[in-house]
Amino acid sequence: MQVVPLKFRPTNDGLLLFADDAGGYFKADQSFLQRYAENKLNQADIHFLDRNGHAFSAIGDLAYAGFEYRFASRLYSPTELDYVILVPTLRCNLACGYCQVSRVNETTPGFDWTDETLNAVLKFLGGLPTKRIKVEFQGGEPLLRLDVIRQVQAFCRSKFEHSEFVVCTNLQEVSSEAWALLQEPDVFTSTSLDSDRATHQAQRTKSAEKTSAFFDNLAEAIDRLGADKISALPTIDPAKPPPAATVIDTFVNYGIRSIYLRPVNYQGFARKQFNALSVASNWNRYHSSFIDALIDYNWEASAHIEEFYFTHCLRRVLRSGHNHHVDLRNPNIIGYSYLVIDHDGKFYPTDEARMVSRVGQFDLSMGDVFSGIERDKIETLNAEALNNFHPDCVHCPYQAFCGVDLVDDLSRYRRIDLPKHLTDFCQRHMYIFDKVFSLIYSADPKVQKSLAIWAGAVEFDPSLSKVHR
Ligand code: SF4
Repeated sequence: MQVVPLKFRPTNDGLLLFADDAGGYFKADQSFLQRYAENKLNQADIHFLDRNGHAFSAIGDLAYAGFEYRFASRLYSPTELDYVILVPTLRCNLACGYCQVSRVNETTPGFDWTDETLNAVLKFLGGLPTKRIKVEFQGGEPLLRLDVIRQVQAFCRSKFEHSEFVVCTNLQEVSSEAWALLQEPDVFTSTSLDSDRATHQAQRTKSAEKTSAFFDNLAEAIDRLGADKISALPTIDPAKPPPAATVIDTFVNYGIRSIYLRPVNYQGFARKQFNALSVASNWNRYHSSFIDALIDYNWEASAHIEEFYFTHCLRRVLRSGHNHHVDLRNPNIIGYSYLVIDHDGKFYPTDEARMVSRVGQFDLSMGDVFSGIERDKIETLNAEALNNFHPDCVHCPYQAFCGVDLVDDLSRYRRIDLPKHLTDFCQRHMYIFDKVFSLIYSADPKVQKSLAIWAGAVEFDPSLSKVHR
């Protein structure tokens, strides 16, 4: 019997978490580690490993094929291009502190699609072979270019069998025409809601008048569109985060049950002012306490709440093929299944790549709508965009669930070859998978209730927390 390679990490209960390359995992103690390292496994060890898919008799046997299948199904393979993020304008009617590089003042000329750009975008969309398209309008404030949104919408509805539109708006000023657009069945609204009024005002709206306008529009949006058609994302400053209970209360009051916490994504000069290590540790501490607060909330509540990214990571641990979050994939091949088209018609593989280029760190554009897609630079990045052979990740039990984000590494460190444990990406994901496993192995019924809800199961399955004794 041969045992597949196992990676391990100590856990708080004195045991070690072991995991294989296909994402199979269990806990065992130090003596098992010693027997494994010294190749002195006993019959009970072999029996356990065999029963749980960590061993095989010969290459090509059923156990081996099953392991290979599970390994392969963890990998992301890009699909056809069916998702575009369009930035018809960089102009915005707000000036949020952390958004300086992705917006200009509402009256600034020269930062909108021209008629030529719009026509070239439509021609580009017209050449896509896909039958389904998702179009996300970002900005700036895209509602300042309702005319462009309308033309793209009309084109997509006639060209594709299925179209879906997401309008990322600050909901600051919504005309009757804009409300009519947002109410259409294939249109979804995404906005920012940084917790209660005081926090939102401090971080975004600045004046009481603008704050009231936003909260009135948010209430109207819930009323007109229903909470299911709105996602509201809080941006959290890890140095002074709002209390978890305040964030939860705010979202519950609007009937929004999925909260996607995001740390402020400082760009360019602002990023240099913040020490990456302390940002990640502050963030991890806050995020962990937020998850605990959700567990307490869900214990009593009839309508439950999740933190979107934590749920996503939990599901990546529990099953394969959970690749719909563009920042957490392995390999993280960019520039194929989705693209960003900026205000000047340039293509970018991701929104972060657009920012990196805009602040002048690297030019990660990949052609434009006038001359077509150029992938040379992106392919250089794609060649490194997997964690399977990374000298740090190969020792990490979370490798099968984790991913890579080279654009984030470039943006923060101007290089992609830092030891992983020094990167923000690794620090945040090491923490989040530690948290996921601490909850999976918890005997607390409160924890198990939330885990089952977040995993999409009726109840927590104890076989998820295997221990080899
Ligand atoms: S990035 Fe960090 S957490 Fe993710 S697999 Fe690599 S070492 Fe592990």
